[in-house]
Amino acid sequence: MNFSELGLSPQIIEAINKANYNKPYPIQLEAIPAILQKRDLLGIAQTGSGKTASYILPILEKLQQTAINKGRSIPVLIIVPTRELAAQVEEVIRTFSQFLSRTIKSQAVFGGVSINPQMMKLNGTDILVATPGRLLDLLSKNAISISDLKTLVLDEADKVLNLGFKEEIDEILSRLPKNRQNILFSATKEDAINGLIEKLLKNPIKIEI
Ligand code: AMP
Repeated sequence: MNFSELGLSPQIIEAINKANYNKPYPIQLEAIPAILQKRDLLGIAQTGSGKTASYILPILEKLQQTAINKGRSIPVLIIVPTRELAAQVEEVIRTFSQFLSRTIKSQAVFGGVSINPQMMKLNGTDILVATPGRLLDLLSKNAISISDLKTLVLDEADKVLNLGFKEEIDEILSRLPKNRQNILFSATKEDAINGLIEKLLKNPIKIEI
C-alpha cells in the first residue's frame, strides 16, 4: 500500500515524496487511518520505527481542514520528554506541512532557556510541542490555554515518567477538556505506563511494532 491510499491530501503526499519516503512503514499503515478516524491510539514503538510521521501526517491532514487559529487556545498538543525530541518533532511538522495552503503554525517549547521569547511567539499556535515542566509554566502564566484541545499526543510516555514528570502530567491532564483524541506512544510496555493508559485512552487501537 502507498501513502496516497491512506487518505492523505496531495500537498502532504508531495512533501512525503520530497522527503523520499517511498512506502509507509508498518506503524504508519496502521496509525494513519486510525488517527484520521479520530480513534484513540496506543503505540508501542521505538525510535526508528517511523512513529513520528505516523501521528504527524494524519494530524496535519485534519488540521488543514480547520479555520486559522487566532487565539491562545491550542488545538493540538504534543508532550515529549526532552528538548531534543521537541525540536525533532517540530522539524517533522515543518517538513510535512510545507506545501499546505492552510499555514500551520507549530512551536516547540522546553525548559532550560528563557521563557519570554517563547511566550511572545505563541499566539495562534496550531501545534504545540512541549516538555511537561515548561508547558505548566506557560499555562500558569496564561500564555496559552488547553481547555479546548482537540488532540493530545504523549510521545515516549515511558521516558516522560522515568524522568519524574508524573505529577506534571497529572496536572496537565486535569486542565484538558473531556472530549478529545488521545495518542500515546511508548518504547516499552513497562508497568509504570499502565496507569497513564487507563487515565488517558478510551477504547484505543493498539499497535505494537
Ligand atoms: P522515527 O521513528 O519517527 O524517529 O523515524 C525514524 C527515521 O525514519 C526518521 O529519520 C524518518 O525520517 C525515517 N522515516 C520515517 N518513515 C519513513 C518512511 N516511510 N520511509 C522512509 N523513511 C522514513
